[in-house]
Amino acid sequence: MNHSTHILIIGGGLAGLTSAIHLAQQQIPVTLIEKNTYPVHKVCGEYISNEVVPYLEYLGIDIHDLDVVGISELHITTKKGKVIKSKLPLGGFGISRYKLDHHLWNLAKELGVRLLNDQVTNVGFQGDKFFVDTTKNGVFSSDYVIGAYGKRSIIDKNLERDFSQKKSPWLAVKAHYTSKFDSKTVALHNFEGGYCGLSVVENDIVNACYLVNYKSFKKYKDIKDFESNVLYKNPYLKDFFENAELQFKKHITISQINFDPKKPVEKGVFMIGDAAGLIHPLCGNGMAMAIQSAKILCDVLSDNYFSKKYTTKEIEELYTKQWNLAFSRRLYAGRVLQKVLLNHGFQVLAQKIANTIPAIVPEIIKQTHGKPLVC
Ligand SMILES: Cc1cc2nc3c(=O)[nH]c(=O)nc-3n(C[C@H](O)[C@H](O)[C@H](O)COP(=O)(O)OP(=O)(O)OC[C@H]3O[C@@H](n4cnc5c(N)ncnc54)[C@H](O)[C@@H]3O)c2cc1C
Repeated sequence: MNHSTHILIIGGGLAGLTSAIHLAQQQIPVTLIEKNTYPVHKVCGEYISNEVVPYLEYLGIDIHDLDVVGISELHITTKKGKVIKSKLPLGGFGISRYKLDHHLWNLAKELGVRLLNDQVTNVGFQGDKFFVDTTKNGVFSSDYVIGAYGKRSIIDKNLERDFSQKKSPWLAVKAHYTSKFDSKTVALHNFEGGYCGLSVVENDIVNACYLVNYKSFKKYKDIKDFESNVLYKNPYLKDFFENAELQFKKHITISQINFDPKKPVEKGVFMIGDAAGLIHPLCGNGMAMAIQSAKILCDVLSDNYFSKKYTTKEIEELYTKQWNLAFSRRLYAGRVLQKVLLNHGFQVLAQKIANTIPAIVPEIIKQTHGKPLVC
């Protein structure tokens, strides 16, 4: 079976669903293919920067309808438990991906987006059309393809993207807990080989999500063993995990998380969200970037849909330029920060500097974040 569409979006996470909603609101025909069935839990710190709020409102999403939790403070601890406290310059909110992605999915459906639960296995280009293979629904042809499939997918291999050939040492573990935790704070606790984010989402649930180097992790027999022997060396993490009650049957994990630079356009496919570039999670800004990259691309595509003023090459150049302008500096700052924060000597030094000159921390945070999106 061969289906035809104007724009085909691969992946319905934050970037893909935001794009689908944006394009559908402009009456542009769009099909989105997502391999998961919602609602579903996803590995994520679940803290979103407020910079996306004006754009979400423009799309008709009032975050207050979703019982989000306002977050205004950041606590960072060294692996021995020395603390840096700072106000978050813009602040943000906590909401589970279980709830947020499902909400966006339903909104896209209401707006008439053709949503399919299926897996894309390949993307090819012939003549002036893309051909997208799926597991259950056969082949789709389209004028444009948006790659919104996240950190890593079989499609990266098919497109021969550089990073897809490499192994990455990073894995992440996440679960929800009930526990006492200050709801206006997002905490980033360091431990040997990684760091753990804690923050509150809807219904007073605390999300704990950590990123760890596989070398550090593989010495232990399971997650519990790893947490007791490694995370518990940070007194804040010990206190949290000893007093928290796990709400999941089991933790969810992902591996092969790669932070290498990527390209925003690859063989004509417009990449958005993590598929275009993944910022280190300690910056707490990947979701805002996913949403913002969707806005940048959809503004260009919808402008062209009505005016037909650009060639495909011009659209590619315009998107690449705007994407670099919005994110290159942030991604670089994130890479530097990750190096600093994973080194214990630097952590101690950073903690001393931050306590002597507290104004420095919000300034550093600003380097990894953007300004509220203008709509
Ligand atoms: C440990 C960790 C903690 C993080 N914490 C935070 C945080 O606190 N705050 C923050 O802002 N960001 C955080 N991030 C980053 C954030 O999770 C991502 O930047 C964000 O989810 C990117 O959204 P996306 O839409 O690009 O990708 P995703 O949300 O991953 O969505 C991609 C979608 O594509 C689908 N898909 C993949 N392949 C296919 C296929 N072949 N066919 C069909 N569908 C497909 C997937 O099922 C998925 O639903 C964290 C990341 C990690 C790893």
